[in-house]
Amino acid sequence: MYSKFIVANWKMHKTISEALSFIDDFIPMVKDIKDREIGIAPTFLCIASVGKAIKDTNIKLCAQNAFYENKGAYTGEISPSMLKDAGVEYVIIGHSERRKYFNETDEVINKKIDACVKEDLNVIFCIGETLEERQKDKTTEILKTQIIKGLDKINSPETLTIAYEPVWAIGTGVVATESQIAEAHSFIRNQLREIYGKVADKIRILYGGSVTPENIKTIMTIDNVDGVLVGGASLDPVKFAKIVKYEF
Ligand code: PEP
Repeated sequence: MYSKFIVANWKMHKTISEALSFIDDFIPMVKDIKDREIGIAPTFLCIASVGKAIKDTNIKLCAQNAFYENKGAYTGEISPSMLKDAGVEYVIIGHSERRKYFNETDEVINKKIDACVKEDLNVIFCIGETLEERQKDKTTEILKTQIIKGLDKINSPETLTIAYEPVWAIGTGVVATESQIAEAHSFIRNQLREIYGKVADKIRILYGGSVTPENIKTIMTIDNVDGVLVGGASLDPVKFAKIVKYEF
């Protein structure tokens, strides 16, 4: 298993100067961290300047999305090869906000994962059920479908990280319970084993959904939780540093 992975998803927040001010404050707070991996996914507009500011630090540059073609007449899109060229190491694909507001289907997500993997980019593949699906007892069915369709013909498990993000826990302040997280992560691990065999044990499975400095320690002690994807609480350098520096 790789080291624990703690990733900030800034979503559509921060101007370039706000992003750089965060980085200025954040670097000294985490510079001595060596036993875990840290990632930050700024907006596309901030990728170049944030990338420059974190170069040669222990912080990895991540992107929030990518298109599945490498170039062409796709107004408004950014390609995996462009992200690679900009120094991006990880790309978040299939976030529930992309599924919900931009109609991304499992098939589109699969094409995006494939395109990123072909450019040697690591993928943080997001999956998770809505509240309605959980209430109808469909959580495992949904996770299974998202995994099977999203990872169809993806044969490079070493490039994958999975983020389990129950949609009802994202940005709501309602964190999933320890047993809900443990159950979902163990189910995901087993699904990955069915596809990739033993190598699946090396795929990191992150939890995402209302992670804070207050709940990080409990979340990180749950079986099969290999890190976290953090939205709201990653916008403040002090809060995000506290999450990164949680103690075992
Ligand atoms: C996210 O959007 O990936 C997320 C987990 O958000 P939040 O931490 O704000 O719930």
